[in-house]
Amino acid sequence: MASEPTSNIAAEHAGPGDLVIARPEGLYCPPGDFYIDPWQPVGRAVITHAHSDHARFGHRHYLASRAGANVLLSRLPDISLQTLAYGERLDINGVTVSLHPAGHVLGSAQLRIEYRGCVWVASGDYKLDPDPTCDAFEPVRCDTFITESTFGLPIYRWDPPQAVFDGVDSWWRHNASEGRASVLFCYSFGKAQRVLASVDAGIGPIFCHGAVEPLNRAYREAGVRLPPVRLVSEIPPKEKGVFKEALIVAPPSAQGSAWLRRFGDYSDAFASGWMRLRGARRRRGVDRGFVLSDHADWPALQTAIEATGAERVIVTHGSVEPMVRWLREQGLEAGAFATQYGDDAVEADALGGVETVSESAVEQAAVEASLEPGARALDDTESRS
Ligand SMILES: [Zn+2]
Ligand SMILES: [Zn+2]
Repeated sequence: MASEPTSNIAAEHAGPGDLVIARPEGLYCPPGDFYIDPWQPVGRAVITHAHSDHARFGHRHYLASRAGANVLLSRLPDISLQTLAYGERLDINGVTVSLHPAGHVLGSAQLRIEYRGCVWVASGDYKLDPDPTCDAFEPVRCDTFITESTFGLPIYRWDPPQAVFDGVDSWWRHNASEGRASVLFCYSFGKAQRVLASVDAGIGPIFCHGAVEPLNRAYREAGVRLPPVRLVSEIPPKEKGVFKEALIVAPPSAQGSAWLRRFGDYSDAFASGWMRLRGARRRRGVDRGFVLSDHADWPALQTAIEATGAERVIVTHGSVEPMVRWLREQGLEAGAFATQYGDDAVEADALGGVETVSESAVEQAAVEASLEPGARALDDTESRS
């Protein structure tokens, strides 16, 4: 979703000393002459992570974290890519840049920019919850912090991940005991691997959709431990009985498709932070909703912002206005950049352009239409057992 901040929250006091400004092509560092996750083709792009709204084709030169190189190249083959280890420093036109773990997906990074004694950090997407498939978020001190705000409303509070995975396990175990396949829909890059690494693989066999497999491979090549996972398409029709006790991980676009018929009787579920919203599970039309996000919830956004020590905060996407308002109430200088981030749900590049509607945009519109900022949504998602 393109965040279009109204003029009263647009980043103000933009001055010649600013290390990052908004340009039509993307966020731009004037002294370094590079862009951060630009949405239009540029000469030099620093990429925070390989989700499709942040990493796009068409730039002449890419800089990204070494940890994320496999995943990035699996999505954007043949790009001109330079990598940095986390914490490693690079001089670009007199500006010192370094990448620091953002805890969002494999290889995700915050970009630290230092120039003439001034430090800015651009977060990309991030979360503070533990995730066995990527390095943990690292707080980085800075003067100005550019933050996401995907779930920047007080209704968004996550249960501990282990509680969510316990819920997934017991749902799967129950289905298996009744000879019913368990189909879990989640984004094929990041969420799927986090689920695979976190469920109890002793319950039964695990399968995945063809859109998930290339990402699994990239994760394994990067040293992330995943349990044995077979492709659904490897199983001939006469052997489809193996699905009765199986967990099947599939992208949201597989929902409602003929691909599901081979499983016979199955239960389905959706894993997403949006499942926190009242009615989200029903709108999705699945049996279960698991509230599992790779973004920071409201308290974690506050924790992360405070840990930077920044006196100025600029918000890029998600619930921009409520976050800017809250930051100003804390006495911070706060504003927003209009960006084209927020379409992590678009898996068009992995699925041949099938899914073109931004799920997060749809869900965000739903929440903004139905909630006053600060209201608490009632939870009908069954994520708490
Ligand atoms: Zn992302
Ligand atoms: Zn994003």
